[in-house]
This record gives sequence, structure tokens and C-alpha cells, in this order.
Amino acid sequence: MSLTDIQTRIAAAEAAAGRAPGSVRLIAVSKVQPLDRVTAVLEAGHRRFGENYVQEAAGKWPDLRARFPGVELHMIGPLQTNKAKPALDLFDAIHTLDRPSLAERLSRLVQARGACPELFVQVNTGMEPQKAGVLPDAADGFIAACRGMDLTLAGLMCIPPEDTDPAPHFALLARIAERNGLTGLSMGMSSDFETAIAHGATHVRVGSAIFGARAYG
Ligand SMILES: *Cc1c(COP(=O)(O)O)cnc(C)c1O
Repeated sequence: MSLTDIQTRIAAAEAAAGRAPGSVRLIAVSKVQPLDRVTAVLEAGHRRFGENYVQEAAGKWPDLRARFPGVELHMIGPLQTNKAKPALDLFDAIHTLDRPSLAERLSRLVQARGACPELFVQVNTGMEPQKAGVLPDAADGFIAACRGMDLTLAGLMCIPPEDTDPAPHFALLARIAERNGLTGLSMGMSSDFETAIAHGATHVRVGSAIFGARAYG
């Protein structure tokens, strides 16, 4: 697999779903990948990346950003409240807004800065106890609470349970987004991004299919 293969498959999935070319944004998930693989994808011209850990991102992206102008960085991993400030320094988008304490912290920081990253509320569509995200039944209330704190939301994000058909989870996320007037849908990974695009994904998060298997993480 490679970047161009994935871009070709995304374009085919957009066409198959009757969606406009370029309506799906590819986030290349570079967590724990060797730097030479990340640099190769930057040299190929890609500029939108996803990371899971604030510390890891802070260690590699300031330098890469200086070398490759135009990088857009997305936080897709769980975000501790005490890392909210460094996360806002680094990331253009946060996909893992999943609890009131984090929303309150982000709201205060965003107001002080006068600038808000793209924010996605993570929904635990599979209701898995070990997984982050608001439960589907609590999503409408949480979205309203975020808006009440003057946070502008871009959309919703989910990670379906492993070893199950992801389609019902993508469909559920799309329904919750639609009834809340949200257009962004961050869903789909290496194994299921085409299914996600068929269900309306606007942002797909693809790691191993672009970079190769991760050593860990
Ligand atoms: C690691 C990760 C991905 C990428 O996973 P792949 O299967 O390698 O494509 C996408 N989304 C999240 C939230 C991740 O943690």
C-alpha cells in the first residue's frame, strides 16, 4: 500500500457513493511511525496528518512543520485535560472531545486565544466500557453543552468495535450528526475507510495502509 493507492481508493469510493471528488479528507495517521516513512509521505506532497499522543507530536512536528510548510495536524488520541494547552499549541483539529471537563478546559483556552481548532465529539457507538467517547444516548446533550460553552463543533468521530461490521456504527454516527446539524464525520481507518465513505465520512484516518505496520501503539 502507499499514499497514491489510498488516494485512488478514496476517489473510487467517493464516486461509488455519488459524492463530489475531494469531499473526503485523508488524515495520514503517523503515530509511532519511523521518521523516514513520515518524511516520504510529506515529500510526496501530503500535508494532513494525525497523531495520538501530545508528547510524541510535540517531539517531531515543530521541526517537520518548519521543513514542510502547510502541515495540518489532527489530534485523534485520548486527550488528558492537563494536556489541553499544549494540544492547542500543536493541533489544528481535535477529534476526541469526549467529556465535560475537557470541553470546559478547551472553552476557557479557546476564549483566551480567540481561535478554535476544528473540534469533533467522539461517540462511543459500540458502548464499549474500555473505550472513550460519549454514549450515543448522551451525545445530543453533550453537543448542546459544548455549544453552550461557545465551542464551535465541526462534527463527530467514532472508532467502531474491532471484529464487528463497522457499517451500523458509521450509520449511527451519521444519524446523530444529522439531527444535531453537524456536517463533519471523522470515521474510517485502514480496514474500513471505503465503508465509512459510503456512509458519509468527511475525514478518514488511515495509518498502517499508508505507512506500513506499526511497531507498537
Ligand atoms: C491508530 C489510529 C488510526 C489509524 O489506524 P490504522 O488501522 O493504522 O489505519 C485511526 N484512528 C485512530 C483513532 C487511531 O488511534
